[in-house]
Amino acid sequence: MGDSGDFLQKLVEARLLIPSGVDGVYGRGDRFEAVCEGADACVTRLGAGDGAERIRFPPVVTRANFEKSDYLKSFPDLAGVVYSFEGGDREHHALLRRLEQGEPWTAGLVPTDVVMTPAACYPIYPTLAGTLPAGGRRFDVQSYCFRHEPSKDPARMQLFRQREHVRIGTPDDVRAFRDLWRERGAELVAGLGLEARVEVANDPFFGRAGRMLAANQREQALKFELLIPICSREEPTACVSFNDHRDHFGLLFGIHLPDGSPAHTACVGFGLERIALALFHTHGLDVLGWPAPIRRMLAV
Ligand code: ZN
Repeated sequence: MGDSGDFLQKLVEARLLIPSGVDGVYGRGDRFEAVCEGADACVTRLGAGDGAERIRFPPVVTRANFEKSDYLKSFPDLAGVVYSFEGGDREHHALLRRLEQGEPWTAGLVPTDVVMTPAACYPIYPTLAGTLPAGGRRFDVQSYCFRHEPSKDPARMQLFRQREHVRIGTPDDVRAFRDLWRERGAELVAGLGLEARVEVANDPFFGRAGRMLAANQREQALKFELLIPICSREEPTACVSFNDHRDHFGLLFGIHLPDGSPAHTACVGFGLERIALALFHTHGLDVLGWPAPIRRMLAV
């Protein structure tokens, strides 16, 4: 953690990240943001010929769909549910009194209909209930995502952007999609001068049941990650992930293939802040000193 703390301090001193007072929540300085936008544009170019439909959701999912998604079974500790105030004058006065006295004041709040988006592809699946057209669907999404895991590691933010491409179709469709994006992802990071390796991975499933889910996911090689050193060479950070969800979302949200069987889904996610951090770590904090071909790729 020492190394990640040092790197964070350098990023803050260079005004690349602006601390908010909460670990893992930062403002993005001008240069940092430009690099994130450049990485985002690189992904746009990679997928340009695919005919994916571009959709941008605000960084929330509906609570109803969130409940349906199984997220609470797998990652209750990472979720962020939005609460608000719905009382009258009396409750309002009580709330302000508790606030003034430095007492806990949130107990009277009630959950709204929205939950912070946990992954950029989550809002897409519920919109697809029904039968897919032949050939399936492709989407291009990007969103701020929330995960409740405060950390001093700048690569573990609580709010960060994921740029994703999503494929919904037959098992063969999603396999081909994943293989294609594995190649594209490797090509992108090589072009950016980043040292990466691909490894089979698992999601951070919660608890005892979660350990079985994780083992299962690894055994079936459903998740791969492109790992790049940011704070540690021994424990590189996942900057791109390739996920085959099989028929998980097809079953949960009633998405069918034309033959009536549940659709398979897969997504590839590019962590824009993590790619930016890997670039700053690898090429230095001053963008003007980066190799010219990389600056051109990112338009910085
Ligand atoms: Zn996804």
